[in-house]
Amino acid sequence: MNSSVHLPDERGTAAPEHHRVVILGSGPGGLTAAVYAARANLHPVVVSGNEPGGQLTITTEVENYPGYPNGIQGPEMMADFQRQAERFGTVFKSGNVGRVDLSRRPFTLHLESGEVLSCDALIVATGASARWLGLESETRLRNKGVSACATCDGFFFRGKPLAVIGGGDTALEEALFLTNFATKVTVIHRRDQLRASKVMQERALKHPKVEFLWDSVVEEVQGTPATGVTGLAVKNVKTGATSTLAVQGMFVAIGHTPNTDVFKGQLDMDEQGYLHVQPGRTFASVEGVFVCGDAADKVYRQAVTAAGTGCMAAIDAERWLAEQGLE
Ligand code: NAP
Repeated sequence: MNSSVHLPDERGTAAPEHHRVVILGSGPGGLTAAVYAARANLHPVVVSGNEPGGQLTITTEVENYPGYPNGIQGPEMMADFQRQAERFGTVFKSGNVGRVDLSRRPFTLHLESGEVLSCDALIVATGASARWLGLESETRLRNKGVSACATCDGFFFRGKPLAVIGGGDTALEEALFLTNFATKVTVIHRRDQLRASKVMQERALKHPKVEFLWDSVVEEVQGTPATGVTGLAVKNVKTGATSTLAVQGMFVAIGHTPNTDVFKGQLDMDEQGYLHVQPGRTFASVEGVFVCGDAADKVYRQAVTAAGTGCMAAIDAERWLAEQGLE
């Protein structure tokens, strides 16, 4: 059965449309879960979310996903994932989930469109979103020298001077990774003390290619989509002095926000909002809920790891449904 008939209940409101498995999110985690769940005959429904295709749709070339020896555009890759999921019968619903009730099963999902779904098993693949500085010039030059992922894009900046924004572990990790390509990496931090762990600080501070610009914020990213990034207008927040830093790439590493607000008070999460799962598995704190991808991962955050955990979530869900007699 794909979905039950949803007749009005005695109060006259439509009963939720029921599915065995609903997947929230359509990045590599959600779509891989969909392929596996669909091939297990679970007729999954994917609620695509605010950013259909996930974070890869805001990148350009993807060169580190196995199976694409010549690289592929992020949006094209996600379209391939979606076609593969559809081929096995996955149904897609656009839009976002606004409210969930995980206190009893079947779970109830209220979509922002007003539609209400219920499901026996829920796969959360809502991902995370990179935080940006919020400058107009930053948005204009995204993928033209502005990036939030050194692992994804560092390779394209061989032999160029670069800047990394932020003072946490991610910023220093990105800066150190970028030294493999860049002539010099300037870490621009808004304070004079790093938030990153001591070990990362030591590594970055002593690296010959890494320099620090303290107490500084970027006011404007210079360049055009044709030239790419040519420099950064930087302001010292203590003295008010402004200067220009000549770089050809800016990597923003000021943190990610997991898209898990809707689960607050219902699923266990850490103080940053990353969902708790059993170590090495995808089980969330509520039985019947499985998590994959960046919503539970602040360490790796790669398309291939999201896809891997998406596969795990679908297998975990399938086995759990079988144990419940809900196959
Ligand atoms: P984070 O620890 O929250 O650091 C974010 C950094 O960005 C901070 O230095 C912050 O400055 C700065 N920042 C925030 N908003 C800014 C803005 N609008 N403009 C300029 N700067 C801004 O984030 P993260 O580095 O992504 O790390 C997230 C978590 O993952 C942490 O727990 C981290 O330890 C962990 N992590 C671990 C590893 C590892 O162990 N290898 C690697 C990566 C991440 P302030 O310091 O002034 O607040």
